[in-house]
Amino acid sequence: MGVACVHDVDVVIVGGGPAGCATAAALADLGLSVLLVDAGVDRHKQLSGELLHPAGVRALRGLGFGDVVDAWPAQPVHGFAVVFSSPARTVLLPYGHGDTGLSLEHATLTLPLLEAVARRPGVTLLTRARVTAVEHNDASGVRLRFAHEGVEHTVSARLLVAADGRASPVRRMLGIAEHFTRISTMLGLTVDSACLPYPDHGHQFVGGPLHTLAYPIQAGVARVMVDLPLGSTAGMLKERPELLRTLPSALRSEVRRALAEDRTPRMTSNDDRLSARVHVGSAVLVGDAASCCHPLTGSGMTSCFHDARALQDALRLHREDLPLALERYASARRPAQRTRVALASALYEACAGQDEGMRALRQGMLHYWEHSPRGASASMALLASEESRMRVMTREYLCVVGHALVGIRPSRRQPVGLRAAVPLLRSVGPPLRDAVSTTMEQMGNWWHCRVGRPVYTLACSGRASPKRALASS
Ligand SMILES: Cc1cc2nc3c(=O)[nH]c(=O)nc-3n(C[C@H](O)[C@H](O)[C@H](O)COP(=O)(O)OP(=O)(O)OC[C@H]3O[C@@H](n4cnc5c(N)ncnc54)[C@H](O)[C@@H]3O)c2cc1C
Repeated sequence: MGVACVHDVDVVIVGGGPAGCATAAALADLGLSVLLVDAGVDRHKQLSGELLHPAGVRALRGLGFGDVVDAWPAQPVHGFAVVFSSPARTVLLPYGHGDTGLSLEHATLTLPLLEAVARRPGVTLLTRARVTAVEHNDASGVRLRFAHEGVEHTVSARLLVAADGRASPVRRMLGIAEHFTRISTMLGLTVDSACLPYPDHGHQFVGGPLHTLAYPIQAGVARVMVDLPLGSTAGMLKERPELLRTLPSALRSEVRRALAEDRTPRMTSNDDRLSARVHVGSAVLVGDAASCCHPLTGSGMTSCFHDARALQDALRLHREDLPLALERYASARRPAQRTRVALASALYEACAGQDEGMRALRQGMLHYWEHSPRGASASMALLASEESRMRVMTREYLCVVGHALVGIRPSRRQPVGLRAAVPLLRSVGPPLRDAVSTTMEQMGNWWHCRVGRPVYTLACSGRASPKRALASS
């Protein structure tokens, strides 16, 4: 390594993905100098976000990326098509107010965001630069080291934003613990979009041996993502094509063709991750570095953009008090994140679970959505990140369970139905627990924000200066 150079900026953002780009734009907009450092993961090879809900499109426009969004070669998406295998029925869940989402290939979506943000006044982009250590972090500022073109650099900043993805090396460097569960393996293939039953919808193929997602990503091309048990390979699907039997026949043939032709299909793991906290000292986590879940709700990128906006709002409001701003950011995002992660987990269980309880829950979901237009639109609002209150999610879950219980009530012809009731009722536990703990947490945050502590400012290009605590002054 060459000689170390020392930089001094207001904000260092690590990671130039959706979260890093959106946060760089949001903070530069506040007049802060931003150094955006990205290691340069190859997005052309990644299996990652491609479907953006209307809320995500709106958030991106709100952050000044309207020109990028307009220039994307994106496909319109009008909502979800949930295709049940047994009974064979499809429920269409449109976005509210006739809104439209967008979908496009991951690299085509993300790289223009990075190019656009690099042109913003106040933003300096360093590509192929990897953060290797956080040398210092306390309430007065941070100092970190990164390697770029064979030279080791040191940078000091008032604020460090870790936007380095779900494996987040920076989160580990900061010593922040996380709740982590590896759920399954995702296999991604491209197929002819004409084989999708509803080519302008995101598809969920529910209740077969393998949960499957599909949506268009460019004219004539759709992405199919098959959820495989942990540790599986694409070879397993080639050897056991019967696992695809519940997919529509045209789609099944296309998946088989793609499996035969694509020697290196994209694969990745599906993880649940929730950081124990999202800020420490002068460092804060955004996007997947802070939390991520199974991608079946397609909410990851929308959540990244909401994080950027929440951090911007918090800093705008408490610019003179960085710890308070970071606490405000944490408490603004956490309830919505808990709902998002709990929703994805409950929905995944309901869609992919193979026991009698989950089969009954799927029947309940189908019955609820077919018979309650209000229920269908409330569920879609949750899926599309338009609604994030835990109590609404819990209410909707209980409605689905109620419909499922009606469907399995014992009769002379079906006395075994009750066997499903026990796992079904047991499944209600986690959403109820989450609802209670989120409410407790909100109350705790409210209290904590009112306790006095030292105040450190985030002044443009200025060093930190301790002041008296607000509450004790
Ligand atoms: C299979 C799958 C499908 C998905 N589908 C959808 C979907 O349809 N819709 C949706 O909204 N979301 C979806 N998601 C989620 C979405 O992809 C993520 O939420 C989103 O990409 C997170 O963005 P990010 O910026 O937080 O992290 P990332 O996109 O992971 O970016 C992290 C960046 O950090 C950089 N980096 C890492 N380490 C360092 C370091 N040490 N120094 C410097 N830079 C570093 C990397 O180079 C990278 O550019 C999906 C996820 C998966 C796994």
